[in-house]
Amino acid sequence: MSQTPQLELQRFQTAGGAEVFQLPLRLFPGMGSFAPLQGYAYLALVDGDDGPYRVLIDAGSGLGDSNPDLEAGFQAVSMLIGKPIHLPDLTHILITHAHIDHFGGLTYLESRTPAKIGIHELDLRVLTNYEERLTLVARRLGEFLIEAGVPQEQRQNLIGMYQLSKRVFHSVRVDFTFEAIGMHLGPFEMLHTPGHCAGHVVIRLHDILFSGDHVLRNISPHQSPEHLTLSTGLDHYLKSLQRLRAWVDEASSPIRLTLGGHQAPIDDLIGRIDEIERLHRQRLEQTLQRLKQPCTIREVSQALFGEVHGYNVLLALEEAGAHVEYLYQRGLLSVENLQELEASDAPIAVRYRCLPCPD
Ligand SMILES: [Zn+2]
Ligand SMILES: [Zn+2]
Repeated sequence: MSQTPQLELQRFQTAGGAEVFQLPLRLFPGMGSFAPLQGYAYLALVDGDDGPYRVLIDAGSGLGDSNPDLEAGFQAVSMLIGKPIHLPDLTHILITHAHIDHFGGLTYLESRTPAKIGIHELDLRVLTNYEERLTLVARRLGEFLIEAGVPQEQRQNLIGMYQLSKRVFHSVRVDFTFEAIGMHLGPFEMLHTPGHCAGHVVIRLHDILFSGDHVLRNISPHQSPEHLTLSTGLDHYLKSLQRLRAWVDEASSPIRLTLGGHQAPIDDLIGRIDEIERLHRQRLEQTLQRLKQPCTIREVSQALFGEVHGYNVLLALEEAGAHVEYLYQRGLLSVENLQELEASDAPIAVRYRCLPCPD
């Protein structure tokens, strides 16, 4: 699934003369290949009508080598442009979405730069009330795993892993939110693309699009059920892909290059959106096929992704859960063990089946 990313600094220029630097970061030490092991923050240097903008897009994970890699990226940029640029020179930090690999570095950055930190409204609470969020999601996740049919021991492992990777972060201040500033900051324009994450945005600077994790080059961005977090889920995600397509179509000038939070740049954004939509249609079809026989989300996950290990088990369960939820919401599935559910006060494994089944 993962691809070895370019570990050298990359330099791009927009049609409007802005300089963009892709800073490679090692994000997660020692996690499975399904997880985004490596990724990027971006430094954009552009003159606005009201002065220079020196903007960092995303902040890395704050785990392992991510912060040193970020510092090394600034040094490499300084060498390349022949004048020093450091963290205190930043004017803004824009976070594409509140996943740890994109905002975790803020705890390190917060005290080292006067840059104003911005995020979309729907992800604000994750950053400012992080401990609360972690507790609530762990609880919902526990229930989801029971209903998905995951055995107890594995459930405890998975929740332990979920909490472990996230405990290094603590709440940080946020200085502004994107809707409150009209979805643009100087020459940067944002589009809200909920789905992969509730407050996900893509950010346009002239003819370059920063796509965060909404569109990636080689993998379909991870989905989890909206049942776990409002404004996520496959329905929002697919609608956001259409929204992005329309936004790009309506713009006066085309997007020449798309830079994601992971993996290589994308030249053909619309072609890549088409591919991702196709993949989800196939996955929905596979899910329906599996559900000809009543089964749990765990069994759907095994049919879709086979044997996976470590943190990937959780990611695969969430992905399967998102597809089951999408089909269920459209009246294509029924709950097979309804009487058992009615008889139980505590959550139990839920078995679904298709209704009616495809040929
Ligand atoms: Zn993400
Ligand atoms: Zn990511």
